[in-house]
Amino acid sequence: MSPPDAILEARGLTKEFLGFVAVNNVNLSVRRGSIHALIGPNGAGKTTVFNLLTKFLTPTRGAIVFDGVDVTAEQPAAVARRGLVRSFQISATFPHLTVLENVRVALQRKAGLATQFWRSDRILGQLDDRARELVAAVNLEPYLHAHAVDLSYGRKRALEIATTLALDPVMLLLDEPMAGMGHEEIDRVVDLIRAAAQGRTVLMVEHNLSVVSHLCDTISVLQRGEVIAEGSYEHVSADPRVREAYMGM
Ligand code: ADP
Repeated sequence: MSPPDAILEARGLTKEFLGFVAVNNVNLSVRRGSIHALIGPNGAGKTTVFNLLTKFLTPTRGAIVFDGVDVTAEQPAAVARRGLVRSFQISATFPHLTVLENVRVALQRKAGLATQFWRSDRILGQLDDRARELVAAVNLEPYLHAHAVDLSYGRKRALEIATTLALDPVMLLLDEPMAGMGHEEIDRVVDLIRAAAQGRTVLMVEHNLSVVSHLCDTISVLQRGEVIAEGSYEHVSADPRVREAYMGM
């Protein structure tokens, strides 16, 4: 039986690569409205689970249920249309467009507007207002007319979050959103993710345990393809198997 407040579930998810079991019978239940982290040492299977959940990989066994619907057999684009959106999936940014133009393009794609309608002043105006709101939501207003290629790494991430939010996802999947960032940028992106999580669910793979401890309600710890602990940061960090997996935690 599913927990009544689960929005995304993996049931007995298994992925074998030529007989090597990368993900072994993983059960995962992400609570609606939560910020949930998937952590684990290198090679634990985090990326594979992520790719399975977003349908970039097909499971060898098991099922994925999103918002009460079994999506195991669906294509990535179909799952994304249901509102399960991976940052950088559909929302790739265009380096030589400005911040505003990038967000506008994402909004146009979401609306599925045919080119002839983009030329309607009224619709263009509405798109422009919404694009500016999203740019402000990720604190990129001073960079409205900067080209994406010229932004710092952290601001590129912020823009990617804005273009993902333009798709109005029900649930956001973020793959190591803090990778390669310094302290200040990390603090900014933590705030952004908190803001982006308002009214939706977030599942993220993240290496930075300090970020996870501050940001996430629930943590699933993977090791050698299996979930070895799940719960709050306090709960999982006290688990002897987790301490051993992270040696010296
Ligand atoms: P993590 O993201 O936790 O570092 P991965 O999911 O990338 O772990 O990898 C889990 C295991 O599966 C690793 O041992 C990795 O070498 C293996 N693996 C991942 N993808 C493939 C693949 N396409 N073919 C073969 N082995 C793979």
